[in-house]
Amino acid sequence: MSIEVRNISKTFGAFRALDNVSLTIPDGELIALLGPSGSGKSTLLRIIAGLETPDPPLAASQHNVPLVELRGANVTNQTVGERGIGFVFQHYALFRHMTVLDNIAFGLRVKPWRLRPSRQTIRAKVAELMKLMQIEGLERRTPSQLSGGQRQRVALARALATEPKVLLLDEPFGALDAKVRQDLRKWLRRLHDEIHVTSVFVTHDQEEALEVADQIVVMNKGKIEQQGTPEDVFHKPATAFVTEFLGNVNLFHGRVEQGRAVAGSISAEQPLNATEGQSVRMFVRPHEIDLERTPSRDSSIRVRVGRIQSAGSIVKIELFDHANNPLMAELPHDKFREIGVVSGEQLFATPRDARVFVDDFVI
Ligand code: ATP
Repeated sequence: MSIEVRNISKTFGAFRALDNVSLTIPDGELIALLGPSGSGKSTLLRIIAGLETPDPPLAASQHNVPLVELRGANVTNQTVGERGIGFVFQHYALFRHMTVLDNIAFGLRVKPWRLRPSRQTIRAKVAELMKLMQIEGLERRTPSQLSGGQRQRVALARALATEPKVLLLDEPFGALDAKVRQDLRKWLRRLHDEIHVTSVFVTHDQEEALEVADQIVVMNKGKIEQQGTPEDVFHKPATAFVTEFLGNVNLFHGRVEQGRAVAGSISAEQPLNATEGQSVRMFVRPHEIDLERTPSRDSSIRVRVGRIQSAGSIVKIELFDHANNPLMAELPHDKFREIGVVSGEQLFATPRDARVFVDDFVI
C-alpha cells in the first residue's frame, strides 16, 4: 500500500475537523477526497503531507495511536521535507519572480549538493517535464505571463521534478473557469496513466471526482462515509449522504410495512431486515423515473409537468405530484420526443429503481 492512515483525529479549539479517520490508498492510484466544504478534506491532506499534526490518542493506548505511513515507512514524526511529497495547491504557489524553467528546476537545485543532479541532468529533466505537461516554449516566461491553466501545469511539473513518492493536490483546478477545468481534468487523467505516481486530490466537485479518480473517498463532518470506485459510490452508495451528494435525487419519505420500504404508492422490491414501522428514505435518481401516459404499475404517481429544460445532452423535466411536491425526471431526447411531453399536462411517473436507507426511529 502506498498511503496508510490510521486513527487520525484533529481538533481546532472545540471543533473536531477529523474524527478518527483511517484510510488505505493503493500504490499508483489517483484518489479523490470528495466532500462538502468543511468536511475535513484539506485537513486530512495536510496531515498526510506533514503540514498539520494529528491529535494524540485520548487515552494512553496502543490501539488508537495515530499513524501515517508512506510506502510502508512510518512518517508520522517526520517533517514535510523528509516525507518526499509533491504538492499542488489551488492558489498557484509559483515563485512570481522566477521563469517557468527556474520554477520547475527549483526543487532539484535546492537539494543538498551530494544529492543534487548535474546541470545537464536538471536541464534534461525540466525539458522532459515540459513536454509531458505540454508547456514547451514557455520556459522563459514568468508566472504573470501565463494563463491559469498553464500555471497549474507548471505547478505540477515543479511538484513532479523531484520524483515524489506521492503527489497531493488541493483543489488544483478550483480557481479556473469551467472549460479550462474540464480540459485539465482530462489531461490530469491521461498524465496519471503515463506516470502512475500515487496521487490524492481534494475536490468538492462530484463530477470532477467521478470523471478523474480511480477511487473516491467521500467525506462528511470529519468522517469517511465511503471509499470505492466511481461506479461503486454512484451506483451502490453506502449511506444516504453519499446518495444525495453524488448527483441529483428524488427523496421519498416512508416506513417499513410488511418487511418492505413503502412511501405512498411506491414500494421497494427488496425485502428489508428492519423493524415494522421504522422510518425509511427512498432515493430515486432523475434518470430512474419513467414517464408514461397510462400508469404501468401500482407505484406510478400522477404528476403535472412543470418546466422542461431540453438544451443539453438529456432532457430535464420538473414534475409536481398531487400535493405539489416537486420531482425531477431526466429522459434521453428520443424518448422525450416519443412521449411528446408538454409543460402543464398530466402524466404518470414510475420509479424503476430506488436506494433505500432505514432510519433509526419508528414512525
Ligand atoms: P473546503 O472544501 O471548504 O476547503 P475542507 O473539507 O477541505 O473544506 P478543511 O479545510 O479540512 O475542510 O476544514 C475542516 C474544518 O476545520 C472547517 O470547519 C475549518 O474551518 C476548520 N479548520 C481548518 N483549519 C483550521 C485552523 N487552522 N484553525 C481553525 N479551524 C480550522
